[in-house]
Amino acid sequence: MAQVATLAPDTTTTTIRGLYIGGAWHEAHDGGTAAVRCPADGREVAVVVSATAADSERAIASARAAFDGGPWRRMTDIERGDVMLRVADLLERDKAAYARAEALDTGKRLVEAEYDMDDIAACFRYYGKIAGLDAGRVVDTGRAGAISRVVYEPVGVCALIAPWNYPLLQAAWKVAPALVAGNSFVLKPSELTPSTSILLMETLAEAGVPAGVANLVTGRGSVVGGPLSSDPRVDLVSLTGSLATGQTIMAAAAETVKRVAFELGGKNPNVVFADADWDAAVDNALTAVFLHSGQVCSAGARLVVEATIAERFVSEVVAKAQRIRLGGPFDPEAETGPLISAGHREKVHTYVQAGIAEGAELLCGGYIPDEPRLADGYFYPPTVLGGCRSGMSVVREESFGPVLTVETFRDEAEAIAIANDTEYGLAGAVWTSDASRAQRVAGALRHGTVWINDYHPYVPQAEWGGFGKSGVGRELGRAGLDEYREAKHIWQNVSPSPSGWFGGTHA
Ligand code: NAD
Repeated sequence: MAQVATLAPDTTTTTIRGLYIGGAWHEAHDGGTAAVRCPADGREVAVVVSATAADSERAIASARAAFDGGPWRRMTDIERGDVMLRVADLLERDKAAYARAEALDTGKRLVEAEYDMDDIAACFRYYGKIAGLDAGRVVDTGRAGAISRVVYEPVGVCALIAPWNYPLLQAAWKVAPALVAGNSFVLKPSELTPSTSILLMETLAEAGVPAGVANLVTGRGSVVGGPLSSDPRVDLVSLTGSLATGQTIMAAAAETVKRVAFELGGKNPNVVFADADWDAAVDNALTAVFLHSGQVCSAGARLVVEATIAERFVSEVVAKAQRIRLGGPFDPEAETGPLISAGHREKVHTYVQAGIAEGAELLCGGYIPDEPRLADGYFYPPTVLGGCRSGMSVVREESFGPVLTVETFRDEAEAIAIANDTEYGLAGAVWTSDASRAQRVAGALRHGTVWINDYHPYVPQAEWGGFGKSGVGRELGRAGLDEYREAKHIWQNVSPSPSGWFGGTHA
């Protein structure tokens, strides 16, 4: 086993081992490594292998060989489901180490990383439990003497590409259904947050996933990503990431007509009517957008509020937003953490400044903090922009930071029109005490998830994904399993005889 990485002396995060290919750890083709730094204070938390395109090709070859000749796809769904249940048990056993590694890589509070680990175990448990429940069906052909069945088979070799905001959670939404369906995969985590994906390889092996089925390449998307979306030995590419990366991968995958599954960005409306439960709506307007400092694909970054209550509602949101305490993963008083990088903070700040230049009113935040205790991290305060219109770039484009824009509406039709005025369509919420209106608005929103009088909850039993440019396909739920299965129709004629179509007997 190549021990190619070191730990910073004052951390006890993961032991970083390299690229996981064919059931063993490897160095990069060119010996390259890269430091991972905690965005809360800039300290080095790991040095990981930085793969080359040749390493991706090696990992793809391993996954292909394991799929074509290995035992995994020939096991029954129930046997693979049992392995997924063991993965869930092991994740629970090792939760502390996983959560710590995730918190250090992302800068998020340890308690949030711990919630993430619970969700990840729940995802493996869900797919473990539903394994075999939907193995196919018998089709009534309407003809005597024919047996017709639809069965499911794995797609093959899957490239699974994950982002940095919920590194292992987004990977788990792909890994669990891909494995339970019988596929092999190459996982590529974000170069900013690879540690928990490295740990996962050991957990999968311990749970009984055979060598070569699960492979891992760490490195920059622009370097290692090419083969994952263009190599003919890859059958499916699943990405959670930005719209721009989705467009690049879709174009690269076109040549070999790969299946693609995308979870991309969102610009999500949080619609508040005047008759909403006031305290719950104010409280959730904050959680909707400021959770994880806005680095959430489903963040309710667009507050769409009824004009009659807008001034009072927004002033309460602003007052509470100004009291949110920023801090690092282990600060017990912190309520949210830093942005992922200096570059990302600059992007967020630029969106805020553009919004102001386009006519928005800065109601709070909008600056880079100068508190000494935050100086080494990439913190950005909760920011609210009033007087926004849907044409502004800060309203249309995903800043992926703690930035709330405020738009107002006069009636239900206008609320729906504003909420749907986006190229994205990932998630949204409606707040009202009128049950009929809640259902009408939820039905009219062109978004993949709609919450009524709530924001953010999801369960692995329910599909997740986007309309419009928010993505292609669905994760989680039954549809999340179907992404990784081919439906095959098998027809059997139980009493074959000549049809006589050709050869003179037809007439
Ligand atoms: P990103 O697109 O920059 O990177 C995502 C992954 O793609 C990374 O692993 C990156 O290395 C890789 N990548 C980059 N270029 C590539 C290429 N040419 N080929 C192959 N892989 C490549 O996104 P990010 O900044 O890591 O994540 C934030 C984005 O993810 C936001 O837009 C957010 O909305 C989205 N997201 C969506 C969901 C969802 O469920 N819809 C969930 C989480 C995050």
